[in-house]
Amino acid sequence: MYDITGELDQIKKNLGTLSFEDQHVIITGGAGFLGSWMCDFLIRDGAHVTCVDNLSSGLKCNIEDLVNNDRFRFIQQDISLPLHVNGPVDYIFHMASRASPFEFEHFPIEILKANTLGVLVALEIAKKHHATFIYTSTSEVYGNPEVVPTPESYYGYVNSVGPRGCYDEAKRCGEAYILAYHRQYNLNVRIARIFNTYGPRIRMDGIYGRVIPRFIDQALTGAPTTVFGDGSQTRSFTYVTDQIEGLLRLAATDAANGEAINIGNTYEITVLELAQKVIALSGSKSQISFYPLPKDDPLRRKPDITKAKKILEWTPKVSLETGLSRMIEWIKKEKIE
Ligand code: UDP
Repeated sequence: MYDITGELDQIKKNLGTLSFEDQHVIITGGAGFLGSWMCDFLIRDGAHVTCVDNLSSGLKCNIEDLVNNDRFRFIQQDISLPLHVNGPVDYIFHMASRASPFEFEHFPIEILKANTLGVLVALEIAKKHHATFIYTSTSEVYGNPEVVPTPESYYGYVNSVGPRGCYDEAKRCGEAYILAYHRQYNLNVRIARIFNTYGPRIRMDGIYGRVIPRFIDQALTGAPTTVFGDGSQTRSFTYVTDQIEGLLRLAATDAANGEAINIGNTYEITVLELAQKVIALSGSKSQISFYPLPKDDPLRRKPDITKAKKILEWTPKVSLETGLSRMIEWIKKEKIE
């Protein structure tokens, strides 16, 4: 398995004195891409971790190095079903949800449930144990934004009945539930609005694949690089270690209580430029081929991170070139093993 310990140590270094030692943390979606990085980091930091995952899009192999650890517990369950967890619980990261646009078409109901019923189940656990609740929301709550860079104060431009509605509206509903628990029960809550994040362990197969792992896989196999539309749509990509650091700072920052905060890199790039960059970095001869742009695919996406800088003292540190190079190494290793 690809060794991420060096990168976990770098996150720890970036966090300075912040520590989760002896804290009890529940991570829903803990076998997924970001969830498993969170599990790994927290176990290495001395926390007690309960990972709840139904393995619908998460993978057992992401947590296989943890299952024999005394401080790690795995509960295989759908978070939208009733769940009782013994305390103590200090933090709950609600990270469970499918997130790939291809999955929106096949699993819209599961996505809605994870971010509505699932949020409620997790909130009730947090309320019972007086835990701090961290929700991984998304830049998708802004839909196809008319304001770019997009600040948290922008309300969104979302098509509730379009193909992305199941994800966008579910996350918006999740956010509303969380603020309701904050206002009505005084629960400690924070909302992370995550912008496109990539790194080792992100899935590249079938309907789970996002643009970066798909392009790298295509480049390494010499298959055509599948650009949707004319490739002029933009995204701003955050490397996983930056994202995890942002989420941990969010969890530990009292001033973030009741706040929604963008966590994303501000370097904006068109999808066509991304394709060219991936081809160049992997030394590939892959040819670019163009396919229709999916409906409601946002035209531009770039966060305003003034709030994260101010409240969390967080800025992304890993450049797109560095992150892509690490991804290429990881995918090469995955393919050999
Ligand atoms: N995309 C693409 N080719 C692919 C997969 C995705 O051109 O094979 C585009 C997609 O249309 C979108 C961007 O890349 O504009 C990011 O897609 P992704 O699925 O990673 O996530 P999104 O940001 O749309 O949620």
